[in-house]
Amino acid sequence: MIFLDFRLSEEQEDIKKAAREFAEREFTKELVEECDREEKYPLDLVKKARRLGFSTIKIPEEYGGMGLTLVEECLVTEEFYRVSPGLGNACLSSTFGTELLILFGSEEQKERYLRWVTEKDGISAMASTEPEAGSDVANVKTKIVKEGDEWVVNGVKTFITNGSVCDFVLVLGRTFEGKKRHEGLTFAIVERKSRGFKATKIRNKLGLRASDTAEIVLKDVRIGDENILGEPGKGFYMLMEFFNHTRPRVAAQAVGIAQGALDLAINYVKQRKQFDQPIASFQHIQFKIAEIATRIQAARLLTLQAAWYCSTGNPRPELSSMAKWFAGETAVMAADWCVQFHGGYGYIGEYPAERYYRDAKITEIYEGTKEIQKLIIARQILGRI
Ligand SMILES: Cc1cc2nc3c(=O)[nH]c(=O)nc-3n(C[C@H](O)[C@H](O)[C@H](O)COP(=O)(O)OP(=O)(O)OC[C@H]3O[C@@H](n4cnc5c(N)ncnc54)[C@H](O)[C@@H]3O)c2cc1C
Repeated sequence: MIFLDFRLSEEQEDIKKAAREFAEREFTKELVEECDREEKYPLDLVKKARRLGFSTIKIPEEYGGMGLTLVEECLVTEEFYRVSPGLGNACLSSTFGTELLILFGSEEQKERYLRWVTEKDGISAMASTEPEAGSDVANVKTKIVKEGDEWVVNGVKTFITNGSVCDFVLVLGRTFEGKKRHEGLTFAIVERKSRGFKATKIRNKLGLRASDTAEIVLKDVRIGDENILGEPGKGFYMLMEFFNHTRPRVAAQAVGIAQGALDLAINYVKQRKQFDQPIASFQHIQFKIAEIATRIQAARLLTLQAAWYCSTGNPRPELSSMAKWFAGETAVMAADWCVQFHGGYGYIGEYPAERYYRDAKITEIYEGTKEIQKLIIARQILGRI
């Protein structure tokens, strides 16, 4: 009996191939450059990818999704980001936050919000970060206060993916002061059309410039009980569980970026000549290519292993964090060497190398910085000291 099998199933191979074909066909050089240069959100492309099911892979079939797992989502993610991290992010993060609904939503919430996404091109967002609460999530200051039959939401959220293009956002706020700081946090589902919702797009990002990032101000936004996610006060734990399920996807983004940078580098070092020979003939370059390719393969396997545990319903937090940290570092390293192999041309916007260099960095920052991933890994290994 075989207990370990590294091959993808036929269906997984088909999904990976379809994603690669879509990205190579739709992420044209012109669109990639225009969206990066002008920080333009490619809404038509986002809808196209949505209708083919690429961004609803994990949403159960009963709510109109593809009913597959994080493993398949990682396969698609790698292919999209390999061609364009910016367009890949716009397309695949357009359903960011729906994992919270899948994990903790009531039947009514799933019916309304998952179907909004699968049937009406709805765009979602998840807002935990605030100006004073990034890595330290428990410091969230947004208030969600009960007034009569309603809850009133007040606060400021920053760096929110899809913040100015979303239809609804899962907002983390405080409903009561617990004994510990991370007690008393709760997720509220806030619709963009609500009175008191204001989003301002954040411009001049280093990379992922096709992706929408915004500040959201919530001023006396009123919601009903039906828009509170799960049991009030459990929001911190929900967010940690959410990250266990989403960090392997960031790792897959990083694997895709690293692979895209390596593909570019291989192409360039074979055709660029110095000292009358292709620069690929220099052993230093060969060793670096070998090193990067090996790291990418290691990152890919770690990513798929972490994703596989999530697909069984039992995520392994340390594996999700290991994958995110290691793959992120690999993406940054691969993109850095890609620029280096290009010499001066790598430093010029006409060549895609510099875009991968700019896009790679975010995978070491969002959904928990690499330092936070190492804290999680160490805590899992050492326990609380
Ligand atoms: C493009 C983009 C998209 C984003 N999308 C979203 C989104 O959709 N939703 C959302 O909620 N947030 C989002 N974020 C926010 C992101 O998750 C945070 O920026 C990130 O978690 C870091 O928080 P911070 O920026 O406040 O940095 P800080 O927490 O202030 O960290 C600053 C530095 O200190 C280090 N540090 C902090 N604490 C420790 C510690 N205990 N030990 C060691 N080092 C530490 C960090 O690793 C980092 O290097 C996004 C950010 C960006 C840039």
